Amino acid sequence: MKAIIVERQGSVNGLRLTDLPAPEPAAGELLVKVHTAAVNRTDIVTREGQSGYAVNPILGVEIAGVVERAEAGTGFAPGDRVMGLVNGGGYAEYAVMPADRAMRIPSGYSFEQAAAVPEVFLTAYQTLYEIGRLRPSESVLIHAGASGVGTAAIQLAKTLSGAKVIVTAGSGKKLDFCGSLGADVLINYKEQSFEEEVLRATDGQGVDLILDFVGADYWDKNLASIKKEGRWVLIGILGGAQVERVNLFALMSKCVQLTGTLLTPRSDEYKARLTADFIRDVMPHMEAGEIKPIVDTVFPLAEAMEAQRHMEANRNIGKIVLSIEE
Ligand code: NAP
Repeated sequence: MKAIIVERQGSVNGLRLTDLPAPEPAAGELLVKVHTAAVNRTDIVTREGQSGYAVNPILGVEIAGVVERAEAGTGFAPGDRVMGLVNGGGYAEYAVMPADRAMRIPSGYSFEQAAAVPEVFLTAYQTLYEIGRLRPSESVLIHAGASGVGTAAIQLAKTLSGAKVIVTAGSGKKLDFCGSLGADVLINYKEQSFEEEVLRATDGQGVDLILDFVGADYWDKNLASIKKEGRWVLIGILGGAQVERVNLFALMSKCVQLTGTLLTPRSDEYKARLTADFIRDVMPHMEAGEIKPIVDTVFPLAEAMEAQRHMEANRNIGKIVLSIEE
């Protein structure tokens, strides 16, 4: 089968399209003929050799496709359309997926739309609800609002909780898109001081919850933007991992709960449980068309390098998808 592997760690030039044997499913796994995969920042970190948790020479943590082989008792049969997280191996014509984290593709979704669901929607659901415990009528600050995770989080926070959603992004075009998804307050972090705008939008109180993809660069500004006893979930370090100076008293005196999380290295059991919760709480809203995956661009598998460059240049609104040609 065709697959994209990391031949040399570092830049995109180290990726290579190659021929490999299709994987063999272990007990409890499905063999899936992949129609689409999607690109994630975790693929880039793995390509650069910085993750420390990559388990598969083939990149890619999420796929959509058709079940080719399934053991009895898995609940799936050949021909079923599925999407979900894989333990690497997504940028390929075939991949194996634990059956307990496969999701049936909502009726009416294309494979391109389906590949845009698992990683960013599971992350947004996990961080807003299972970790962030967002409640109705609360406020949430979502940085990188037009990112894959951001566009998922805006829709979940509005649809599931009717929360007040405040987003930051780096251009008017991205902010307009966030507004079209229901975000209430739009802040261009390149032109405005986001902490001042957040305080203005929350009567000087700050937000109940922050989804933080930026890390170090936003440390002080996030601390200024959060409400007393607020929850702050650190999901990304796009703005650096090392904070120069940390005033622990400021964190303590605001009684802030700060939590970090990474989905890719979580256990199989964790991902299965998260997927089951997501199917229960979110999939009905997808079936009803109230929440939709956002596809920015579709690249053929052979152009995975170009697809990753597109992400690294911060050009996308929503997801970048790879299409596996017949
Ligand atoms: P994405 O679609 O590639 O979007 C990321 C956006 O972040 C960029 O387009 C850019 O938009 C903004 N950005 C980049 N560098 C920035 C900086 N230094 N300061 C402020 N904004 C910056 O990303 P994604 O796939 O949705 O992922 C979003 C973040 O979540 C990434 O950090 C990713 O690693 C993380 N993530 C974490 C988990 C987890 O389990 N912890 C899971 C999935 C994703 P602007 O033009 O608006 O600046």
